[in-house]
Amino acid sequence: MQFIQLLQENMTLALVVFGLLGLCVGSFLNVLIHRIPLMMVAAWRQECSQFMAEQADMLREHTTPLANIVVTDTPITLSKPASRCPHCAHKIKWYENIPLISWLILRGRCSDCKAAIGLRYPIVELVTALLSVLVIYQFGVNAAGLSALILVWTLVALTGIDFDTQLLPDRLTFPLAGLGLAVNSQSWFVSPTQSIWGLLLGFLSLWVVVKVFYLITKKHGMGQGDFKLLAVLGAWLGPTMLPLIILLSSLLGSIVGLILMKKQGGSRPFAFGPYIAIAGIIALLYGSDIVNWYLGMYT
Ligand SMILES: [Zn+2]
Repeated sequence: MQFIQLLQENMTLALVVFGLLGLCVGSFLNVLIHRIPLMMVAAWRQECSQFMAEQADMLREHTTPLANIVVTDTPITLSKPASRCPHCAHKIKWYENIPLISWLILRGRCSDCKAAIGLRYPIVELVTALLSVLVIYQFGVNAAGLSALILVWTLVALTGIDFDTQLLPDRLTFPLAGLGLAVNSQSWFVSPTQSIWGLLLGFLSLWVVVKVFYLITKKHGMGQGDFKLLAVLGAWLGPTMLPLIILLSSLLGSIVGLILMKKQGGSRPFAFGPYIAIAGIIALLYGSDIVNWYLGMYT
């Protein structure tokens, strides 16, 4: 408790401490991003183990990249088995697993087989650290700040998973929605009523967009995970932030979509979740500033 008080009195120290904490959390988020899809596939396999033939068809018909994930029969949890090099199965020692630093010392290569370690690992760690610093700078070391950290960290994990698999797992979005309602029962970000309206309108607004889009084009533009993610952000930030989040995410999504289309000629499935998550983080940190600035232009 004394330590918390020290951090509350010394902002610079707080930013350093939470920046370092962010690096470590980022390292854990890399594990989440990698393993949750594996655990989902493992769970599905278990559920349909008695219908192996049907399940083979199901995986074949399943068009997401999850179908390409090969699952071994060793049970996977977040802590087991220990991290290994995906190329040579070299067991990663603790000193090879220090966020950012190990990657720099190893120069982005496995110490054993010299296979490249993806640049995304240090990037996720750095981004998580930077976002942690921004959150604490904006909210301070208090209940709102610490709960905002949990929101942002989970959004980073969801972004990575959706980017890889075009899925936003319920096992992350549901608890996050519940936490949003819980923290706002204490009015930490918005009032309890606003939180409930945010949840409902967040889900409905994208649902309506998708239905209309489907009526016009007969194509499914977005997954249910996207509605659920917007509902989560509504529960945390209230309904007034939803237009901003939808606007920002569409803007980001179209820009990146256009760039990708030019680069790859475009029929790769497009995950919208990351843009909703990024827009949500911007709305959390600077939403009221942006809205006030916008309204201020007309007065
Ligand atoms: Zn290796």
